[in-house]
Amino acid sequence: MGHKTFARGIHPSYYKELTAAKRVEGSTLPKTVTIPLQQHAGAPCEPLVKKGDLVQEGQKIGDVKAFVSAPVHASISGKVKDVELAQHPNGTRVLSVVIEGDGAVKDWEAGSSRPDLGSLTPEAIREAIREAGIVGMGGAGFPTSVKLAPPKGKTIDAVILNGCECEPYLTADHRIMAEDPEKVVWGLKALMRASGARMGFVGIEENKPEAIRAIKEKLDNSTDIQIIVLEAKYPQGAEKMLIHAALGRKVPPGKLPLDVGVLVNNVGTAAAVYEALVYKKPLIDRIVTISGNGVKEPRNLKVRVGTSFEEVLGQCGGISGEGEIEVLNGGPMMGIAQSTLNVPVVKGTSGITVISSGSFKSKPYDPCIKCARCVEACPMALMPYKLGDYGRAHRLPEFKDWQGVSCIECGCCSYVCPAKRPLLQWIRIGKLKVRQEAVKAAAK
Ligand code: SF4
Ligand code: SF4
Repeated sequence: MGHKTFARGIHPSYYKELTAAKRVEGSTLPKTVTIPLQQHAGAPCEPLVKKGDLVQEGQKIGDVKAFVSAPVHASISGKVKDVELAQHPNGTRVLSVVIEGDGAVKDWEAGSSRPDLGSLTPEAIREAIREAGIVGMGGAGFPTSVKLAPPKGKTIDAVILNGCECEPYLTADHRIMAEDPEKVVWGLKALMRASGARMGFVGIEENKPEAIRAIKEKLDNSTDIQIIVLEAKYPQGAEKMLIHAALGRKVPPGKLPLDVGVLVNNVGTAAAVYEALVYKKPLIDRIVTISGNGVKEPRNLKVRVGTSFEEVLGQCGGISGEGEIEVLNGGPMMGIAQSTLNVPVVKGTSGITVISSGSFKSKPYDPCIKCARCVEACPMALMPYKLGDYGRAHRLPEFKDWQGVSCIECGCCSYVCPAKRPLLQWIRIGKLKVRQEAVKAAAK
């Protein structure tokens, strides 16, 4: 019998062999970090430090009272060089704290002990997760403590850990599961206790047998947690696809996983929850896959938040290859192309992918030949060729009528298009215009 999966989607070349078997290595301690005060969905933080202040590793340097937000912390100890606008890997400029390091390193594990989860109240777990600044580490950056507090009348009965990692090249989640299954499973139990869920699942694609084995061994005789092995297909890790494949529940358009009683978290998020509750360590570093045919020595590195892409790539032998080079924050399907390497690794940076021209994406495009391949590939059953045209022309009524806002930005349509039309980019424009229209209407 085949593994569980969803309808449509694509099977791109995965190129995971470049780093899948490479253990996570510690990166060199950066001399300077630039830490954006917004690395999450929701309200940006306000700075709690100013130029000239001395800060300790793990000290909170930004926070705000808004419910949907997450504090940020110093990833190295040293002196605040500036609080200034700086380039963010999402393409915007964000107020950021620049810290010059003093070389000191804190041992978070020293003297730590694992609390009995049964002795912690759900509120205490949620508060610890909030104070540690934990956000979704798969890239979306939604504050985890907010997800754990459903509004009145809604209940969560299942937590799914997303270990699919269906993006080509990326193997950071694979390595966490293979090397730190204890943290992942304990983190899942903490998330279940905090949300009140009775059932836990770890969804892993079939192409990660080492991870499946490692997690299985840590489940002991747990009857409330199961592994779900899924077909390796893109975008298997998209929340709606994962929930449907794993539990058979369909999240209706415009609704959230919470509306079908499910909470989805990345496996890296679960490991961060472990570190927050056991080591009392805030989210100041993360595992990043540095890969692509434009990187000399692809690796998996544990990197301090705020380290520049340039410095991280330097630890992988630098950029190689000929012709046009594209550096992406994330993988090649959903990643965002960077105009400079002077951008920091943030909480949601699962990978830095470097593609030399012609290997994955190709820029010139042709007229649409109405072949419908994009329609056949779209996991949300949308009409990407129409949405692309409406989005780039800012034809918002039509864009909304054809459910453009339901697009999950997976990029399957662009990938399969024989005319190489940049459908996802155009659809993103449409979604941005719809959001701007809504903000304007709310301000009236
Ligand atoms: S329209 Fe959106 S959801 Fe559909 S394939 Fe394209 S990017 Fe994915
Ligand atoms: S795949 Fe490309 S060429 Fe084919 S219908 Fe979609 S946009 Fe047109």
